[in-house]
Amino acid sequence: MSEELFDQVAAELDVFEPVPDEELADAVRRSGSCGWLNTSGDMPEWTGDDRADRELAAPICAACPVRRECLEWEFRTHGYAQAGVWGALAEDDRRAVFLRWLDRRDGTANGGRP
Ligand code: SF4
Repeated sequence: MSEELFDQVAAELDVFEPVPDEELADAVRRSGSCGWLNTSGDMPEWTGDDRADRELAAPICAACPVRRECLEWEFRTHGYAQAGVWGALAEDDRRAVFLRWLDRRDGTANGGRP
């Protein structure tokens, strides 16, 4: 991802700033593709290898209707430290977006700066 795209994704999350945590969590639980796959038994066979599992997760997240809600939720609850693919972004990209997101929230959001 480019620097411009990091900025763009962080800006897209501004719309969720006033949304309560529970509302975000409900949206992700109700509509997240990973939840549906878990329920249907169609979740891929995870390998335990980070790189391989990221490749398995990426297309699931990319098609998820609540990937931006998921990313907002992830930033609020886990911030910089979380590993793996969330909200359709792999770790490095997500951390770059997280730092921009944190700046847009005046650095006061949960998750904290690394
Ligand atoms: S973006 Fe990925 S991790 Fe988040 S709810 Fe959707 S499928 Fe699950």
